[in-house]
Amino acid sequence: MNGSPDSSNVIVRFAPSPTGRLHVGNARAALFNFLFARKNSGKFMLRMDDTDDARSTAEFAAAIEEDLAWLGLTHDIFARQSERLAAYEAAAEKLKADGRLYPAYESAAELDRRRKRQHARGLPPVYDRAALKLTDEDRAALEADGRRPHWRFKLDHEHTTFEDMIQGHVEVDGASLSDPVLIREDGRFLYTLPSIVDDIDFQISHVIRGSDHITNTGVQIQIIRALGAEPPAFAHYSLLNGPEGKPLSKRDDAERFSLRALREAGYEAMALNALLARLGTPEPVEPCLSLETLAETFDISSLGRSDIRFDPADLTRVNAACLHLMPYAQAQPRLAALGADLGEAFWDAVKPNLVLFHDAAEWARIVEGPVEPVIEDSDFAAAAAAALPPEPWDQATWSLWTGAVKQATGRKGKALFMPLRLALTGLPHGPELKNLLPLIGREQAKARLGGLTA
Ligand code: GLU
Repeated sequence: MNGSPDSSNVIVRFAPSPTGRLHVGNARAALFNFLFARKNSGKFMLRMDDTDDARSTAEFAAAIEEDLAWLGLTHDIFARQSERLAAYEAAAEKLKADGRLYPAYESAAELDRRRKRQHARGLPPVYDRAALKLTDEDRAALEADGRRPHWRFKLDHEHTTFEDMIQGHVEVDGASLSDPVLIREDGRFLYTLPSIVDDIDFQISHVIRGSDHITNTGVQIQIIRALGAEPPAFAHYSLLNGPEGKPLSKRDDAERFSLRALREAGYEAMALNALLARLGTPEPVEPCLSLETLAETFDISSLGRSDIRFDPADLTRVNAACLHLMPYAQAQPRLAALGADLGEAFWDAVKPNLVLFHDAAEWARIVEGPVEPVIEDSDFAAAAAAALPPEPWDQATWSLWTGAVKQATGRKGKALFMPLRLALTGLPHGPELKNLLPLIGREQAKARLGGLTA
């Protein structure tokens, strides 16, 4: 099924290997698939590519589910490859019976020597298919010698083409590639065949993944056809690099930008989603609070073809912008959990100053006290205290009061406002005082202007 999506049949998958923690690059893969499914009223599948039982762990699989839940990327279909080995065996048997999967006995060292010889002669390092020339007796002798075969798929030496939704027309020349190993000596499946069998069995309509898989796709289309199926549509997006332009798979950046690290640092999942949905597109990043909104405007074909960088400064900026949009009802349970739920007026007063949600706790402390006031001129502070109007206070109180202080002291501008801010909050910056002052209240304001920690 190539070309435009048939909205009733869209099924896409995110297929991580549970051999490590998800980082922002993986989150992008999951998000693109999720948004594409939502936009097209399709289904989103989570598939654990866990056939490598030496490296896959149940802990990593659980951590992946936890990270996806944090992002809000809920799946409609779930599968674990380790539970589907019989289906892969059956596919392998069919390919063997059709002469497309053949045993080869070269050791890694032998293959390496051969590649070096090819290199010295200026030839491409393509497997020479020596195993195809083995007779039954040769194979029996090798096996009697204790050798176990690995199994290679016999590629057709032709050009495989596909229309990629991002890359456009792509051609992969089968003759330039080694016949891929599908099954290892120890009988374990490598990634390729299980992935294909699952894509067929779960009727995946669109494979959306990184551009590092483009050549694989040429190979996979051949195997899909050899299994009697039709290839899905493909979209290969350019990869996300770290801030220094290095691949995110490098250990330090993968750790630094793991979803767990970002979550623990206090970033909003929606800020990350909003940023990742637009990085690498010509569209500006729009802060937003719902995946539905992101899905409506998501257009996979707007993704560009050059590699892009993840800059944590961008995330910080989008995070602040998302918080500025957040209504009190949404913030309230989290404020309560921080011990910082001082009501809607408080949230509205402080949210324009938040970079991370938990910064609200600091402003709650400043409203409730104790605050150590900073007083540079106690005569001025005393004059200001004397001019405090009687309660009840509201947002008009600030200008009423500062007007009176200006009259009484002759100060204006920064010389008027900064000492008041320092006395009331102990800090030279912060939310607008017209909003904070009524929350601080007359008694505490008076005490702070008098130099008391209150
Ligand atoms: N497990 C594969 C990977 O993480 C999945 C690639 C794919 O989407 O086919 O690279």
